[in-house]
Amino acid sequence: MIYFDNSATTFVSDSVRAKLQELTEDSVSANPGALHKLGNRAIEVYEGIRRETASLLGAKPEEIFFTSCATESANTAIKGYMSRNKRAGNAVISTRTEHKATLECLDYLAKLGYEIRYLKVGMDGKPTAESLEEELGKGDVALACFTLVNNETGAVLPFEAISKTIKAKSPSTAIYLDCVQALGKMPIDLSSLGADMCSFSGHKIHSIKGNGVLYVRKGVRIDPLILGGGQQDGMRSGTQSPVLAGAFLAALKEVSEGIAESRARIDEINSYLRKELSERGAKILSPDDALPYVLNVSFEGFESETMLHCLEIYDIYVSTVSACSAKQKKVSYVLLEMGVDRKTAANAVRLSFSRHNTMDEAKEFIKCVDAIYDQFLVK
Ligand code: PLP
Repeated sequence: MIYFDNSATTFVSDSVRAKLQELTEDSVSANPGALHKLGNRAIEVYEGIRRETASLLGAKPEEIFFTSCATESANTAIKGYMSRNKRAGNAVISTRTEHKATLECLDYLAKLGYEIRYLKVGMDGKPTAESLEEELGKGDVALACFTLVNNETGAVLPFEAISKTIKAKSPSTAIYLDCVQALGKMPIDLSSLGADMCSFSGHKIHSIKGNGVLYVRKGVRIDPLILGGGQQDGMRSGTQSPVLAGAFLAALKEVSEGIAESRARIDEINSYLRKELSERGAKILSPDDALPYVLNVSFEGFESETMLHCLEIYDIYVSTVSACSAKQKKVSYVLLEMGVDRKTAANAVRLSFSRHNTMDEAKEFIKCVDAIYDQFLVK
């Protein structure tokens, strides 16, 4: 099997499996809110996990909240910030290439009467500096929402330049940054990043599904999304789960090591695939300077879903962002927003790698593409 669908989700690592075993022992399974000594043990373990997670991300423990997924983190950050800071402004800036976890929150805010201003995005998948200046210049911007690495193309946001512009032109604007596809693939130090709120997802870094993290910089006030018993400083009620938090931490520890070495290997795989696929007439849609872990490619003569299923015959797994419903063919809104024509976008397939993929797999992939062209391409 060749699994090139790691941006959708990753397989669970051995260290996460071991941690799950350890943290489901009876001795640590009491309610962390309980007053007896078993409860004390559970909360100690939980707070230890929180401290270590914070330290690996360059944050303070009180800035880290465990959630069920990055979608929950995004909802809490975006809705919570706007709900709590009503006098901060009536506008939000973002792009139309964000993940749905952000876009749907922005639609929700628009229905409440907020003005959502979308910046123009270039062929490189990055918002243009001019449109950032223009939209900030209109004033009243409470919040800016961006993604550090785009999940469909791997486009890397020039975040340093963007946050510098925001801080210079509109210092009161808070910044929410989706770091889901960046985690473990590029160094992230929240203490110097310049974002006020960030989201992370466990299942993208070889943890199990059901765990995410929300970072809220100290001093930034947001309303909680989930109300209840006041756990996690009232930011996210619900009985704390040392198991899920521990799974996230075990995965984070693993991907925090050897980031540069993994990146160099994936760079080689990506360059090889770009070259071989281009020679066969496929169009590379990921920008040249994208993070190499994502390679979006359009195969002429094969609609996305057709190619996905052809590859599946060879036990190769990729994903498509174009899906056919009964009547309507959906094409990636991210690619269209970047200016890719509809026909090319309709043939786009996303290959996404983890640090565990190898060059041998990439070579095998190319062999299978050749076989698919031979067998199925109508000439
Ligand atoms: N943001 C990005 C960029 C993603 O790729 C994803 C997952 O596809 C999410 C957010 C949502 O993550 P989760 O599945 O943890 O809710």
